[in-house]
Amino acid sequence: MRGVVVKLDRGYPLVRVADGREVRCEHATALVKGADVRATTGDVVEVSAPEGHDKGIIEEVLPRRRAFVRKDPTERVAAQVLAANFDKVFVAEPLVGLNIRRLERELVLAHESGAEVVVLLTKADLAESPDDLARAKDLVSRVAQGTEVLVVSAEDPTSVEAVRERLPQGEVAILLGKSGVGKSSLVNLLVGEEVQATGAVRKTDGRGRHTTVSREMVPIPGAGCVVDMPGVRGLALWDADEGMRTAFSDIDALAAQCKFRDCKHESEPGCAVRAAVEAGELAPERLESYIRLRDESDELRRRNEEAQ
Ligand code: GDP
Ligand code: ZN
Repeated sequence: MRGVVVKLDRGYPLVRVADGREVRCEHATALVKGADVRATTGDVVEVSAPEGHDKGIIEEVLPRRRAFVRKDPTERVAAQVLAANFDKVFVAEPLVGLNIRRLERELVLAHESGAEVVVLLTKADLAESPDDLARAKDLVSRVAQGTEVLVVSAEDPTSVEAVRERLPQGEVAILLGKSGVGKSSLVNLLVGEEVQATGAVRKTDGRGRHTTVSREMVPIPGAGCVVDMPGVRGLALWDADEGMRTAFSDIDALAAQCKFRDCKHESEPGCAVRAAVEAGELAPERLESYIRLRDESDELRRRNEEAQ
């Protein structure tokens, strides 16, 4: 049987098979031996159901068309795939506590996955004035470089509907963002009931009874599925050339004018990127961010090559 992993249930993949049933599974022995083919949320798997066995057996994890991978090349641990085969990434950043450096990093990761990206500027009701909101949206839009930015508030049903519209039936979206930015609240509003414990509940009585676990595929009525992915701290920027090019398309375009093709935009003569900073056309912090993230990505790649 073909199926999709909808969550990890105490370590066991829960697989939704063709007829809609959800089957708790374990991996076939042959899979366990190759440590990095453990099934994760979003994986398409081939499952068998042996007679007299209380669990299904995952015989095969089909090739992933897309994945978020936690990998630290310095520790020689197998890469952990956090989510697979998603179509979209919603990057959530709150209006209050807005952190541009974090947003830039999340955008590189999101774009690197190859999925379509939409930025959600959450908790918009906390803006002090319409001007305050407009300023924040403007700033985020500039950083997002043409990636769509939706202003979202749990207090504003229209804004929640706008998110639903970005998630057509049959698609899977990852909801990426630091804890506390309003991801669970948004999922609950999309579903129409409390499927995820929000910060408020978590503080008082731990985990609500019916709440989903992290990285669970939650079906949204009239739309696709959403997978909450708290934080990106564990997600290394590793070999993220494509993500860097898309997330920093402004710098990428300028770089085409640099005198040297391999210009690092640091001290080379004829650097069009630094010229743009000096002319006031590119924010110096933007170039600093770019260099920092690029160096991180290159450094991890170098270490990984050494380790091999
Ligand atoms: P998560 O950790 O990203 O899932 O964030 P939660 O959904 O748990 O929200 C964290 C806190 O922010 C909770 O106390 C929510 O009630 C609150 N919150 C969530 N969304 C909004 C919003 O749109 N506006 C305001 N003012 N508060 C919000
Ligand atoms: Zn340059």
